Amino acid sequence: ASVPTIALNNGVEIPQLGFGVYQIPPEETVSAVRTALEVGYRHIDTAEMYGNEKEVGQAVRESGVDRSEVFVTSKLNNGFHARDDALRAFDQTLADLGFDQLDLFLVHWPLPTIDVDYVETWKAMEEIYRSGRCRAIGVSNFQAHHLRRLFGETEVRPAVNQIEVHPYLANDELRAFDADHEIVTEAWSPIAQGKVLDDPAITAIAEELGRTPAQVVLRWHVQRGDVVFPKSVTRSRVEENFALFDFELDTSAMAAITGLDRGERTGPDPDTFDYVP
Ligand code: NAD
Repeated sequence: ASVPTIALNNGVEIPQLGFGVYQIPPEETVSAVRTALEVGYRHIDTAEMYGNEKEVGQAVRESGVDRSEVFVTSKLNNGFHARDDALRAFDQTLADLGFDQLDLFLVHWPLPTIDVDYVETWKAMEEIYRSGRCRAIGVSNFQAHHLRRLFGETEVRPAVNQIEVHPYLANDELRAFDADHEIVTEAWSPIAQGKVLDDPAITAIAEELGRTPAQVVLRWHVQRGDVVFPKSVTRSRVEENFALFDFELDTSAMAAITGLDRGERTGPDPDTFDYVP
């Protein structure tokens, strides 16, 4: 069974399942991305902050898979929110990847407490989009109130909002807000970096279905309609995380997993996070 795609609000199609490369050291990234492409992944999620864009680009360019068949996302780093810095940072991302065009570029964090207003940053993203060098633009870690300001003061609607979502942080209010505004939610840290895999409710469902806990949690995301990109450098796990489209969770299993929500973040709070490298 192959990976479904989801249409973004500008018609561009994104594969619902991808491969995330956060915390993969550059010297391991070429091999990790090559493995993912061999297994069948056609969507890679990186960021300038991850320090491995060059290696992601190299792996994609050397893979033998046509560039047009791989959806690549990168993100604007926190130090580059001013207009001119954002334009320069995008050029650098393209150069490091070695691509003519990027599929999706995101503002990594809203940084609501720093001196540059993220509305200015979004206007620079619109310039990048209009240049044709990026097929879609979006945001990451934006709350509803950050998005509302963009809707009021800018023209292009973000195509995605990449936010922390997993069974301990269902984030359903924000997901519904995204959906109401034609914004696709991407769920980062979909297995909470492994933290949810020992949960008895999840292991019980996995045992009953003859699947692994990671597959059950990732399948829960897929059935909720979010985009996911689990990270692993272990080939067997990269394969396991890709095998999500030949089984289903019934409504009671779905509800049991959603019921684990306890509002628990593994990462920073977008309303207070202000880290600039
Ligand atoms: P994740 O939830 O994907 O968990 C990854 C970890 O879980 C791995 O390091 C491994 O230890 C373990 N794991 C993976 N597959 C497993 C399996 N089948 N069985 C057992 N253990 C397994 O965490 P993540 O890497 O933080 O998130 C995924 C991606 O989301 C990142 O790589 C990145 O692309 C993106 N992300 C974005 C942001 C953001 O601010 N936009 C923040 C964090 C992550």
